[in-house]
Amino acid sequence: MKCLAPWVTIRQDEDGSVMPCSSYFTRLKDVKIGSTHRNIQEFFNGSDYNDFRMRMCNDEDIKGCIECKVDAENGNPSHRDYWNTKYANITEPAIRELELCLSNKCNFQCIACNSHFSNKWYKDDKALNELGVDKTGQLSPRRHLTSPDDMVGVNLDSLVLLRILGGEPLIEPRFLNVFEVLKERNIIQNVELFINTNNYIFPNKEWQEYLRLFKKITIVLSIDSIGKLGEWNRHGFDMKKFTINEGRWINFPTNVAYNSVVHNFSVLGLNDLIHWVDLPIHFGMEGKDHALDLTLGPSYLCIQNLPEHTKELIADKLDQRLYKVKEFMFAEEHNPKYVKQYKKFYEYFEKKWGMPKENKLIYESVCEKY
Ligand code: SF4
Repeated sequence: MKCLAPWVTIRQDEDGSVMPCSSYFTRLKDVKIGSTHRNIQEFFNGSDYNDFRMRMCNDEDIKGCIECKVDAENGNPSHRDYWNTKYANITEPAIRELELCLSNKCNFQCIACNSHFSNKWYKDDKALNELGVDKTGQLSPRRHLTSPDDMVGVNLDSLVLLRILGGEPLIEPRFLNVFEVLKERNIIQNVELFINTNNYIFPNKEWQEYLRLFKKITIVLSIDSIGKLGEWNRHGFDMKKFTINEGRWINFPTNVAYNSVVHNFSVLGLNDLIHWVDLPIHFGMEGKDHALDLTLGPSYLCIQNLPEHTKELIADKLDQRLYKVKEFMFAEEHNPKYVKQYKKFYEYFEKKWGMPKENKLIYESVCEKY
C-alpha cells in the first residue's frame, strides 16, 4: 500500500545514512550525508528517493516496510497511517517533518538497543557477535558515530515538525546549531519539536531558551519497566532521577508522553509499568499518552519467537488491557534459531549484570524445552 512518508519526511541517522522514517527496517541505500550527498536535501530531491516514491506508487512489497505491514495485519495503527492521514492532501514532495540523529552518544546501555544508537554498546555488540548472536545491522563499524548538523542548502520552509533522537539527544549539543538555523530563518515558531529522551538529564538554560521558541514541544520519555527491572533493562536508568525530571517536564510548557519497548526482558514488568504511568495505552506512534512498541527486532528479543509454552506462561500473567500484546505474541510460530540466540544473550548478560527474577522466570521456562 502506498505510503506518503517519502513525500513529506526524511530521517538522517547517527552515521549519516538516510531512511524514510523510524519504522523502516533497513538502510535505504549506501548513502552518507556529508560524503556521498552534501546534505539531506540533495537526497530528498535525487533519483534514489524518487525511485523509492515510484515503488510506493506501484504498490511494491517493500522489505524495509515490514513493521507497517505487520501492524496493519494485526489491526494496529501503523506509522504509515500517520503519514497517510496527516498529509492526505499533499501533492508535491517537501521536507515537512525531519528526524535527526546526530550521533550515537548515549549515557545509557538499554538492553534492546545496539552500538548504532549507543556508544556504550560497542564492546558487548562485538562480543555477542563473536558468540553467534546475530548482530547484522546492529554492530556499528566504530564506537563513536556522528552525522552532520549542517543545514546549509536544506529547504526548511515547509517544516512543521522536527524530531531529535540519539543516542541521547539532550547530551548532543550540536542540536543547538540546528535550532539556531531555525531561529535565524525565522521559522522556529512554526515548528513543533519532538524529543525522544531517556530522561536522565533535564536541559540546561541554553537549551531551555531555544525550547521556548518552538511552537510546541512534545517530550517522549522512554521507560520500558519500573524499579529494579527498569534499572536492569535500561542500564543507566535511575527511577528516582526519572521521577524528578518527569515532574520538571510536566511543569515546563510541554506535552509529555511515554514510550515503552516490549521485548523478552520487559514483558513481565508491563503490568506494573502501565499502572505506574497511568495513562491510556496504545500501540500507535509515540507522542500521545503511553505508546507500547511491540518490537520485531532484534529477533532474539522479540516475544513472538519465544517457545509456545513460554508464551502461555507470559500470557497468563498479563493484565486484561494488554490483550494486544498477547495477540501479537501468538501471531507467529516461535523460531528455534532465535530462541537459541536469546539464551546466549541472556547468559552473557546474567554473567555481566546479574538477572532480575522476572527475566529468570522466562529463561527457566525456555530451558524446559531448549
Ligand atoms: S510504509 Fe511504514 S516503514 Fe515504510 S516508509 Fe511508510 S511509514 Fe515508513
